[in-house]
Amino acid sequence: MASEISQLINEVRQFSEDRDWDQFHNPKDLAIALSIEASELLEVFLWKSPEDAKKDKIKEELADVINYALLIAGKCGLDVAEIVRDKMRQNAAKYPVEKAKGVATKYDCKLPTKFEQNCQRKLISSRPVTKV
Ligand SMILES: [Mg+2]
Repeated sequence: MASEISQLINEVRQFSEDRDWDQFHNPKDLAIALSIEASELLEVFLWKSPEDAKKDKIKEELADVINYALLIAGKCGLDVAEIVRDKMRQNAAKYPVEKAKGVATKYDCKLPTKFEQNCQRKLISSRPVTKV
């Protein structure tokens, strides 16, 4: 029995095959389309507070992103559940709970010390002013 993810991939591929669009769907162009759809998702939030974004538009654009992600996975013969779980294992090693819990900065980002902040301020204030 096919998983629900496999069924979804088949449905998205069937939609594309019915329209003879498969000829255009190589992984590169699908990745570009995914990026464009991700930008359309960003546009839903642009210049608004998150709670003011229209949920129908979020659903629509997120579905477009997922559809392209599923097409890429299908085209590349990837097992979606496997690659997502593999990546989660990598992320768990990269962001151990004891170091990452409640911290929004990247794992290798450290805040500058007071000494470093003072050095940066002095360096900036000692630069000659140049007019453009
Ligand atoms: Mg869209």
